[in-house]
Amino acid sequence: MQTKTRIVATLGPASEKKDILKQMIKNGMRIARLNFSHGSYIWHRKAIKNIRELAKELNVNIGILGDLQGPRIRVQIAEDLKIERGEKILVVDGSQKKTFQRFDRPFFFLDYPHIIKNIRKDSEILIEDGLISLKVLENRKEYLVTKVIDGGIIRNHKGVNIPGVDLNIDVITQKDKKDLDFILKEKLDFIALSFVSSSEDIQYLKQLIFKKTKKRENVPWIIAKIERQQAITNLGEILDEADGVMVARGDLGIEMDENKLAVLQKRIIAESLKRAKPVIVATQMLDSMIRNPRPTRAEVSDVSNAVIDHTDAVMLSGESASGKYPVESVSTMQKIIYSTEKSIWDDEKVKPLSIKLQSEYSVLARSAYELAESFSAKAIVVISLSGFTARLISHFRPQQKILVATNRRKTFHYFSLLWGVEAYLFKKKEKLDLLIDKTIKLALKEKLLKEGDKVVVLIGRNIKGKKMRLVGVKYI
Ligand code: PGA
Ligand code: MN
Repeated sequence: MQTKTRIVATLGPASEKKDILKQMIKNGMRIARLNFSHGSYIWHRKAIKNIRELAKELNVNIGILGDLQGPRIRVQIAEDLKIERGEKILVVDGSQKKTFQRFDRPFFFLDYPHIIKNIRKDSEILIEDGLISLKVLENRKEYLVTKVIDGGIIRNHKGVNIPGVDLNIDVITQKDKKDLDFILKEKLDFIALSFVSSSEDIQYLKQLIFKKTKKRENVPWIIAKIERQQAITNLGEILDEADGVMVARGDLGIEMDENKLAVLQKRIIAESLKRAKPVIVATQMLDSMIRNPRPTRAEVSDVSNAVIDHTDAVMLSGESASGKYPVESVSTMQKIIYSTEKSIWDDEKVKPLSIKLQSEYSVLARSAYELAESFSAKAIVVISLSGFTARLISHFRPQQKILVATNRRKTFHYFSLLWGVEAYLFKKKEKLDLLIDKTIKLALKEKLLKEGDKVVVLIGRNIKGKKMRLVGVKYI
């Protein structure tokens, strides 16, 4: 089943066995997400090894994404605590863990030191994806006095969100730095950065990567997770700086008015397309499949609509990491993608590129796309070394196949995320100007093309140091 929208699947206990992973790849998984909120390095290393071996065995281009936890605040509490609407409960700053003692009211700690100083009266404290909510009545420096709005059971280690409050904490924690070292050492293809607020957060991560690797190219692509109000405010500059984005609907739906989620998703995707940057739609896409072998109608519709919105990829979290049906979740997603792509509803033309990207080169890419349309070509064949040309062609969401040749392994892996891109990796010593013909030959062998087809060819920048810029139609 050939599909163009990519599937990212989070790995976890449900998908650690090699034969499960194999089935997931066979059913359309293109990117494995390692969530550094969970799992030991030994566990992650094993998963990476399995994925790499299977990619080779099955001859599929699989990318690996390391997702940094970021400054996630969590509940710290000795035992479960049931709270009811209207009750008062104290939320104690992490710096007070050793000294705080009060038994006249129930309380729990936040596991982060010095974060309550910016929290004012009337702020909301949300626990476990907002299932429990507290309203701040008073800030008494070491602790907050809050009133329960929605009650429930407060459990240790559950995530906490405090929407709209600038907590003034680093976007990259000490733990993230260690995880980053691991990600770079294991040569993963993508790094997702959680709770991004501005382009400076991305620049900071780039600096850390440069310090470690001394390289600016051939390093993982940075995926900015859009999940805070500030990230929506600064969306344009974040997209300019990052290599791609994730619509991280889990936290975004808590930090922002959840009723706007579908609209925000459309806006983030449209802004990414304008910059030819890849975008992943994430969280709860097939949530009920954590428990059930079939999705709900609303979930089917959600995946379809993300494809119609022109996302590059859709993502599974708990469904593939800890649910009962990891393989079925992937295959369900693939079938929904397939039927949606076959329809006319995902064919709407994309809006023009942002002014910043318009150049002689982007016009050339547009010409390739338009030539392919008007000559009913079967494919657009390009060489892409940094990934830029592939991004440009992919962003048009053409009907034609996109066949991309590269001689860099990292770039080859970037392509696992790009909508519709079928990638071919050649050896470094291959002559670049021969790669187009070699790619066509391989595509013929794989029956992606046949004798008599027309293809459009786009040859990129600076091949052999010359500024060779060429677009044309080739008859096979
Ligand atoms: P998470 O990110 O699963 O790491 O929290 C995704 C999201 O918030 O939707
Ligand atoms: Mn999140």
